[in-house]
Amino acid sequence: MRVLTLPWRRPAPPPQFEAANPAAQTEFTLFAAALQELPDAVLVVRREGAALSKIVATNAAAREMLRIPIDGEQLVSVLRDPGVLAAVETTLTTGKENTLTYDTGGLRSQALRVWVRPLPTAQTALIVLRDETEARQVERMRVDFLANASHELRTPLASLSGFIETLQGHAKQDADARDRFLDIMAGQAKRMSRLIDDLLSLSRIEMNEHVPPSGTCDLSLIAREVADGLLPTISTKNLRIELDVPSPGEAIAVGDRDQIAQVVQNLLDNAVKYSPAGALVSLTIETDAALNANTLDAERTSLRDSGGGRLTLLAPERSYQTRYVAIRIADRGRGIAREHLPRLTDRFYRVPSQKTGEISGTGLGLAIVKHIVNRHRGAVLVESAPGLGTAFTVYFPRAVTMGEGASAPTVTKPL
Ligand code: ADP
Repeated sequence: MRVLTLPWRRPAPPPQFEAANPAAQTEFTLFAAALQELPDAVLVVRREGAALSKIVATNAAAREMLRIPIDGEQLVSVLRDPGVLAAVETTLTTGKENTLTYDTGGLRSQALRVWVRPLPTAQTALIVLRDETEARQVERMRVDFLANASHELRTPLASLSGFIETLQGHAKQDADARDRFLDIMAGQAKRMSRLIDDLLSLSRIEMNEHVPPSGTCDLSLIAREVADGLLPTISTKNLRIELDVPSPGEAIAVGDRDQIAQVVQNLLDNAVKYSPAGALVSLTIETDAALNANTLDAERTSLRDSGGGRLTLLAPERSYQTRYVAIRIADRGRGIAREHLPRLTDRFYRVPSQKTGEISGTGLGLAIVKHIVNRHRGAVLVESAPGLGTAFTVYFPRAVTMGEGASAPTVTKPL
């Protein structure tokens, strides 16, 4: 079944009803017009004698969904699913109502719910089709999310229970083993609490994701503050961190300070976590960046020749008029193979080879980044090449400062 984005033809004028009572006629006309506007597809079919069922009335959604050129078509020529045709037959024959679901199949398969109801006129039925594709996807995501979250929590929990049993049993008198096990248990408990913190954080962000923030904040200050907080980890790992940020007051974005700090924190944490000892991590801020086809073009990457990839993980719906403050966090760590880039912001996704042996990550950090940036109507880009490193760039709408009008400079500076 093909679905057009535009109505197949102009909606038919609502049927007229000759009533002695003009008020009743107005109501009927109104009701017929309302039916035309209904987002669900509505059809009335009738069978005369042994002939096939014909479509006698449709609303605009039905004509668009089923590409019905004119009323009077045979039902079978626009709706071929045997289950639906059988349900219509049953309703026409027995007068009993039917409800069913079916998938249209094909490349852009839709999940439809179909209601077939008898109408008071003989051999006539009403068919209503509702597109439930999106609702089904949301439901599938919800189920997957619950399964993943339980699995992620169960792993450290199983480990904790195992160690408790061991400590109650044969390791009871073994002081060395006890200390070792308690350390591991503390690590697992921390992991569980990190997971719960991240899950709560994600659900809080999602709750107000549709309300863009209205305050402003200084990204240079945020970047310095977050980087300072990481100094102990950086020095333990003997990493170097290089900050190339404008003076305070020059990189002002429209945004929620704490949420933007969380984005910088998550990206810097990853850069540090996935870098080998002694490597360089850099953070740069561009105060007047543009987002356009050039910037978002996945083909343009300096890492391409080295097997690297570049991907826009998130882009705002309308970006051409807005200027952005861009923060780029780059590392010279292990990098990420191209095929993994599209899934990086999926909840709990971790690049497979890195999953084993590394229990510190929750796989939620980049999902949090994506949702925060989405709330800010910004963008997230990733560039990476295995063995060479990774760079994430996040864009936040730039605040218009005093003296700047709507005619801010429009120089395009692709990354
Ligand atoms: P995690 O808590 O596991 O780090 P994230 O959502 O932050 O979860 O990241 C998802 C996955 O993306 C990570 O598990 C890791 O495999 C990969 N990844 C993220 N950032 C980097 C990076 N800078 N270098 C290499 N791999 C990275």
